[in-house]
Amino acid sequence: MLSRLLFALFVLLVTITCGYWLHGATGVWMAAVGVLAGFLFNDYEKGHRLARWLRLDDPKAEASLTGFWGELVDRIRRGYKTRDQLAVRNHLRLQEFLSAIQASPNGVLLLDPEGRIEWCNQTAAAHLGLHEQRDLGQHIVNLVRDPAFTRYVAQGDFSSEVIIEGRSHSLSQSLKLQAQLHPYGEDKKLLLTRDITARAQADQMRRDFVANVSHEIRTPLTVLGGFVETLQSLPLSAEERQKYLDLMAVQATRMQGLVSDLLTLSQLEGSPPPPVTESVDLKPLMAQVKSDALSLSAMQGDDVHPVHSLTFDLPDQLQLLGSRAEIHSAVSNLVNNAVRYTPVGGTIGVAWAMDDEGQALFSVKDNGVGIAAEHLPRLSERFYRVDRSRSRESGGTGLGLAITKHIAQRHGGSFHVQSTLGEGSCFSLAFPSQRVKWAAPGAPKPAL
Ligand code: ADP
Repeated sequence: MLSRLLFALFVLLVTITCGYWLHGATGVWMAAVGVLAGFLFNDYEKGHRLARWLRLDDPKAEASLTGFWGELVDRIRRGYKTRDQLAVRNHLRLQEFLSAIQASPNGVLLLDPEGRIEWCNQTAAAHLGLHEQRDLGQHIVNLVRDPAFTRYVAQGDFSSEVIIEGRSHSLSQSLKLQAQLHPYGEDKKLLLTRDITARAQADQMRRDFVANVSHEIRTPLTVLGGFVETLQSLPLSAEERQKYLDLMAVQATRMQGLVSDLLTLSQLEGSPPPPVTESVDLKPLMAQVKSDALSLSAMQGDDVHPVHSLTFDLPDQLQLLGSRAEIHSAVSNLVNNAVRYTPVGGTIGVAWAMDDEGQALFSVKDNGVGIAAEHLPRLSERFYRVDRSRSRESGGTGLGLAITKHIAQRHGGSFHVQSTLGEGSCFSLAFPSQRVKWAAPGAPKPAL
């Protein structure tokens, strides 16, 4: 800039001197005006070229300007570069931010002041059955047709959330969503959605469980109450009193059984899986199960002779790593069920075997009443019974198979059932090889 000024002064001085020498004072004025006009024209032309270059909006384009104007172009070029770098950085940051919101397990949806969708993540689209691109610009209340949501939006109080039905891909399962609007910016809104289906199902299961337990306890209590009233109000003979007391004992035992099964279930649920340090010798355990099964079978007849043909096929050296009490409970539940649900004269086969993967398989096969196919998937649910009265008559609580399945799973195993109505059933448990141990190495392993 300074050199340009000095150059201009120099040119002005030389021209004025020449003007004075040629035309005196008039020459001086003419020279000064001429020089200034020359400089002005030069700057106008370069300024014009700069404006043309700026209009191209392409920093890489050639400006053909030197000196002061060239420096100006360089500075503007650097400004362009900084602006572009900043734009790229901001774009990357925005993309990262959007990816983070996309990864959110919650639905996020942005609404403009009129309630039209500006942007939504995949989760929100899946929750509300929206198309991420196609539905942009649509009014949210036109797409989310749940009346509870429409009311929520209309009332304008967004301090709490609303529970709405989502749009699940599978028609068999309904989706429960918790949705809440959060105002932000200039009258815009952020809609957050959360899938609470599992929580709602757990709440429902808890309510069902409490209702079932209350029902199961109320029934024997009502019967007991009736007997107490009879004993209190009627003049009964000693024999009759004894009969009522025996009936009351049956109801009390039933309640004890129920409470004991409930306690077992809650213990199973509240404790960590049994460690693999305790080894359970199956031979004495199965001997106990066999003796109990024979007594249970005899109770259906003359109390002395079992009324079923029971066979027990037991490996000699097989041990399981886990809880003795739990394995005993699981195994005896299945054997006792076979006795209870097989009519007099039926056959029951109990066996332990190994499969190719080293799993220990326990099975109880009977030719009893059997179970229709539609009941099989729900059999291990708490309080699920195929035949309520038969279960009660034989002292069932409806919790045995739930406990058994739970125990198998706690040991890393699985529970299976095959059955045909009127032909019989086969209940089995599979324990993984990690839970299997042989007392004597090299002992013959029973195969399937
Ligand atoms: P419960 O105490 O009623 O026997 P469980 O949970 O042990 O309860 O069994 C659930 C239901 O499964 C029973 O009510 C019965 O209808 C059916 N069930 C279990 N074992 C057998 C079997 N061996 N044969 C036929 N039905 C069975």
